[in-house]
Amino acid sequence: MKINLLALTPAEVAALVERLGEPAYRATQILDWLWHKGAVSFAQMSNLPMSLRQKLEQQAEIGFLEVLAKQKSVDGTEKILFALADGQTVETVILPYDIGESACISTQVGCRMGCAFCASGQPGFIRNLTAAEIMAQVLYVRNLLQRRGRKLKNMVLMGTGEPLDNWDATIAFLEAVKDPQRLAMSLRHITLSTCGLVPKILALAEKGWPLNLAVSLHAPNNKIRSRLMPINKKYPLEKLLPACDQYVTKTGRRVTYEYILLAGINDEIRHAHELAQKLSGRICHVNLIPFNAVPGLQWQPSPKEKVVAFCHVLKSYGINATIRRKMGADIAAACGQLRNICRDRMRGE
Ligand code: SAH
Repeated sequence: MKINLLALTPAEVAALVERLGEPAYRATQILDWLWHKGAVSFAQMSNLPMSLRQKLEQQAEIGFLEVLAKQKSVDGTEKILFALADGQTVETVILPYDIGESACISTQVGCRMGCAFCASGQPGFIRNLTAAEIMAQVLYVRNLLQRRGRKLKNMVLMGTGEPLDNWDATIAFLEAVKDPQRLAMSLRHITLSTCGLVPKILALAEKGWPLNLAVSLHAPNNKIRSRLMPINKKYPLEKLLPACDQYVTKTGRRVTYEYILLAGINDEIRHAHELAQKLSGRICHVNLIPFNAVPGLQWQPSPKEKVVAFCHVLKSYGINATIRRKMGADIAAACGQLRNICRDRMRGE
């Protein structure tokens, strides 16, 4: 088994260099090539002696992922399907915004949360991604944008999977993101989205990082939420909302509540009032999300007028609310859909 350099901390790269009998400054050079200069092979590391490059070639690898499929939407949204070393697949999305590109990253192959409206969980849970596999998605996007003269500005952990259900890898990934010797990106530009694993939200709050937290709420009360999201039976709103308050207290960052509007389920004016009453006084932002239809699921998006009216009610309570722009609708934008489509194609469906 070769050592994956993307999985190593700077201290571990230093230890590797020492083991190879090389001077310590070579570690800094390797890290620089890998993390800052976008090298994808040892051959590109031109200031390393040939002998070291050969040793690295034999013993180590840069754990980039193979691209299996790519799709580009008319609005500029791009989807990339990667193959992992064990043949599993994972999706990454690039979202173009005026302020710069954002990457939507996956943290698991499949998902075990079982939300009723979500495409990611449909095929079930396969496995956690490693921190290096999560990072490989980011580096691919960053290098691609760099070649286009663009910059990766933001990142959202909103692809397939529940990041807090893959705690160790997600934390190791975030450590690498903020490390000046590695990705060197401020956590202020990163948003972690969770379905609401309360103990993990509290543990994340304890880190005190300036990471943005998004919470998939999707309902104004436990009755509707438990129907849509099984996790609500374990961590109902009376546990979830105080945990989010704690996150705000410990980190000084406001929490974003995501709310998908589903026709006839959670989109009535009375639901907007109920939600507003629960959230008023809390430091938060509500992001109303147009539902992306998922083949095989019966849910329908709310009509535009209802979304606007819902938003209006929230605002009347002084709650900061916005309607998310729908992107990539023509390329099966809902997380997990490209993966599902490719799997179906391979099965000949
Ligand atoms: N597990 C995490 C992150 C992945 S889901 C979470 O639950 O937040 C990212 C966001 O996309 C969540 O808010 C999720 O509820 C939402 N989502 C899932 N399926 C969707 C669909 N079909 N249309 C619109 N949003 C969807």
